Amino acid sequence: MPDTPQPMRELFDRLKALDGRPFNSYKRLLDKTFYHDRYHIRFVHIQGSPGAFPASVCHLGFKIAERGLAGGCLENMPRKMATADYLLRAFRAGVIAHARQNRGVQGSGSFQPLSLPPQVLKRNRVRFNQTDVQIAFHISLPGSHDNRVLGRQAACMFSREMTGIVDTLQASVARIAQLKKHCDVIEDMLVLQNRLTRYGLVAFVGDGAILPRQSGISQDPLKAGAVAFYAPDQMAVNVVFPNAGRVRGLGIRPGVNVLIGGGFHGKSTLLDALVKGVYPHIPGDGREQVVTHPDAAFVCAEAGRAVNGLDISGFIDNLPGGVDTKRFWTTNASGSTSEAAAIIEAVLAGAKLLLIDEDSSATNFLIKDQHLRQLIPEDTITPLFDRVRELDRRFGVSTLIVVGGSSEYLGVAEQVIAMRDYLPVCMTDQVRQLALPEPNRPATPLMMQDQRRVLADNFDPSYRAQRLGKTIAVRIKPLRLQARVLEYGNDQLDLTKLIALVDPDQVLAVGYALFHAGRRFKDAWLSPSDLAGTLYEQIEKKGLESLFQPDDSPLFLACPRRLELAGAINRLRSLRVEIVKAQKNCRSCCHLESRNFHHNR
Ligand code: ADP
Ligand code: MG
Repeated sequence: MPDTPQPMRELFDRLKALDGRPFNSYKRLLDKTFYHDRYHIRFVHIQGSPGAFPASVCHLGFKIAERGLAGGCLENMPRKMATADYLLRAFRAGVIAHARQNRGVQGSGSFQPLSLPPQVLKRNRVRFNQTDVQIAFHISLPGSHDNRVLGRQAACMFSREMTGIVDTLQASVARIAQLKKHCDVIEDMLVLQNRLTRYGLVAFVGDGAILPRQSGISQDPLKAGAVAFYAPDQMAVNVVFPNAGRVRGLGIRPGVNVLIGGGFHGKSTLLDALVKGVYPHIPGDGREQVVTHPDAAFVCAEAGRAVNGLDISGFIDNLPGGVDTKRFWTTNASGSTSEAAAIIEAVLAGAKLLLIDEDSSATNFLIKDQHLRQLIPEDTITPLFDRVRELDRRFGVSTLIVVGGSSEYLGVAEQVIAMRDYLPVCMTDQVRQLALPEPNRPATPLMMQDQRRVLADNFDPSYRAQRLGKTIAVRIKPLRLQARVLEYGNDQLDLTKLIALVDPDQVLAVGYALFHAGRRFKDAWLSPSDLAGTLYEQIEKKGLESLFQPDDSPLFLACPRRLELAGAINRLRSLRVEIVKAQKNCRSCCHLESRNFHHNR
């Protein structure tokens, strides 16, 4: 039964009365709501010890204004997503401005700082209607060395500090122009992303964009000395954003695109902006008008990863020791085998644009020059160079590849862009004058079928804690300092190379999607790619909440893409799959094929 809300005074009295009691007495506040004249707080989840991770969860609810949110900021999905993002950033600003933090032991007595990337993601932390907002936040309730409640400190957090946070929030909401701008920018990006195909593009970079970051570890735009992006006339297109209107910029077309240039001229920076350009960016980031096809995948070498029964024979065959690459299993892939696997997995999961940087690739997977072809005829690698056109023609998969040290790819490129002093230059015509190496024609066509089926007993999230001598039923959490490594049951799922995972909440969502798959798809045998697709569609249609069961503790997630869901399933070291017989004459219809398989069983 819902509890009757009580005045905030009552919360302060209770906290003072709890002072000095065992820490878990805080649990008496669970499910209770307390109201102030401008907002209310509800305790949704309460941690058992000071500094425990994840922390306790509260909901903050408040009225926006008599007339509701202005600027049409809840009008459609992109604007709602933008508004939710705006509110979270305002909440964070409030915490930074008003919260004292670390009042107790182990970092307890803190509003857990939200670290939001400059990308805007669909999340489940904020709910609203026209007049009311509810924001879920983590708070670590203050505790003492001897595991006691610090009631007076807690009362301070919920009085002065909370009021300050709400002041900041409400002031942000009142800055209508700023909120509207946030919505406009994000809506523009998402609408153009939907229309890219109509413009005949796989990516767009608006003139004026600031692509470089402050440093290698910063996501903030470079301020001093940043050269604003400007497209060369030969490659410039005009697009129309719903709010910003007509904008000129670089149009990247389907097919094979090569990005060349001297060292340190901004190639990787442009590529990275395109990788992140699958998401909208906040105003001021510099990359607001970088718009990439939503199914773009960055692929790179990842020596040491696991590959589970994947057919990589299109790229790598006849390995020493008779290793079967039609069903390639390894717990320790090499640079080239890992990159081949990454490409096949991405295409199977629906990738339409591959983004590749020679800096992070296995050279022997990208190219093999004519002399080496003659000297080492037994080499078993068909380099990507020989397949890159086929990927486009037969599978509709475009490529943008950065090369600085070899001319091979120029011979197969439809567009050649050079970066010169941080600015793109069109080199397509100049390159046509050159006598360039031609790719070899591989003996067999590339096969793109996922013949693997995920077995029912996968995705066990339980963890045997040797040190404690007990089994923890569910362990799904990103490593604290390595946000793209997920502890999943006994597995450590390393997603470091999935650089389109920009937020730890996405990594956590990947984990809960796997957990959900284990609970729900017990006997529906899908391929890893189809399983990722099914999970993604469910999240899109029914929301992130659909991954939970009613008695799960509250979790705050951000949507991953289908490609990253597939990437995670494919990297799971404990994944168990069975191989089904290949269907003849199937060129590219791996998705159809496995759906049929599923229905015919
Ligand atoms: P490349 O891949 O061509 O070797 P990078 O993209 O790694 O070069 O960029 C080299 C350096 O130049 C980086 O420190 C990057 O931040 C900086 N940089 C990139 N683009 C710009 C730009 N438009 N304006 C100023 N500095 C830039
Ligand atoms: Mg580089």
